[in-house]
Amino acid sequence: MKALVYYGPKDVRVSEVPDPKIEQPTDVLVKITTTNICGSDLHMYEGRTDMEEGRIFGHENLGEVIEVGNAVVNIKVGDMVCMPFNISCGHCKNCESGLTAFCLTMNPGFAGAAYGFAGMGPYNGGQAEYLRVPFADFNCLKLPEDAQEKENDYVLLSDIFPTGFHATQLAGVKPGDNVVIYGAGPVGLMATISAGIKGANKIMVVDDHPDRLKLAEELGAIPIDFSKAPAVDQVLELTDGVGADRGCECVGYQCCDKHGHEHNNITMNELVQAVKFTGSIGVVGVYVAPDPKAADPLAKQGHMDFDFGNFWLKGQSIATGQANVKAYNRQLCGLISSGKAKPSVIISHELSLDEAPTGYQHFDARDKGWTKVILKPGK
Ligand code: NAD
Ligand code: ZN
Repeated sequence: MKALVYYGPKDVRVSEVPDPKIEQPTDVLVKITTTNICGSDLHMYEGRTDMEEGRIFGHENLGEVIEVGNAVVNIKVGDMVCMPFNISCGHCKNCESGLTAFCLTMNPGFAGAAYGFAGMGPYNGGQAEYLRVPFADFNCLKLPEDAQEKENDYVLLSDIFPTGFHATQLAGVKPGDNVVIYGAGPVGLMATISAGIKGANKIMVVDDHPDRLKLAEELGAIPIDFSKAPAVDQVLELTDGVGADRGCECVGYQCCDKHGHEHNNITMNELVQAVKFTGSIGVVGVYVAPDPKAADPLAKQGHMDFDFGNFWLKGQSIATGQANVKAYNRQLCGLISSGKAKPSVIISHELSLDEAPTGYQHFDARDKGWTKVILKPGK
């Protein structure tokens, strides 16, 4: 089959690779019809996170089931399914409590497993024609009748819609709260929609990309352009000097590279300043542990100088981590199906699998208008 293969930093190509096969009786094979490029892929694409050569990218996948293992009960050939980016067993201690991003079985000793991701187990990604899905009864969300019609909405259930929702959940957003969201990338925009779903009052979204900020505004947020004036000042002005009740970090450790800072301390320390005394902050932007073997372990990896003093003084709380997609995907699927949520409004480009390398280039450069790129391997 054809798949998007990683050869080295900023070098991904569509290559011919062996087809995946059913390996366990609990597996299914899915013919991928839509698969997305994610900001998380960029950590590996840019070489910030080491990835083995030859691996297939793609953790945001949707498609049609074409083969089922003997032990699969609920999923049938022909079903349209969307897979959470987390691969989880469904019956370990963490999965049983809904913490599927921290499954203890699929990638023991680390923070869970995912398709096509460095450090997250040996599983190949779905930026390909076919994908093997382990523990398929647990890891496939069977989509409703309108699956094909709303495919570009449902595919966002694999990661960024639940992740944006998770940001607001970690931050404890409640009706009437004023919320500041750092990052108007796909995840920040999904957090914007989610804060709206939760009944937030003012939703303030910080970025410096005019087109992404415009989208945030269209989704009901107040755009805050940090290139025009310090974001913290703008948030304080909009909240009578008090600060936002809740903050969401949807940027991750890229800001280090982007602004040439020595450490990734920008967004987290700004959030401490922009959020009120006793407010709370949810962090879904990815930070990874420093790798002592890396050439410049602190600057390259997720180390940061966090302003713990002000955080403590303000009596704030913080919650972090990868999204347990399964905790939300069924409910968010219902909101899409009933027309109450339309996350696909952020999709800017729909490309064939062959065009994936071009998609990576533009999305990585954050070129004007390239907000969210989805790939259609069948086309
Ligand atoms: P993205 O890189 O497209 O978006 C990030 C946005 O942040 C960009 O628009 C960028 O301009 C903006 N930005 C950069 N520096 C900033 C600063 N100092 N202040 C404000 N904004 C700034 O990526 P994305 O797809 O939206 O993903 C965002 C983060 O979420 C990434 O770190 C990604 O890995 C992570 N993520 C986490 C999970 C999870 O489960 N926790 C899941 C998916 C993605
Ligand atoms: Zn993703």
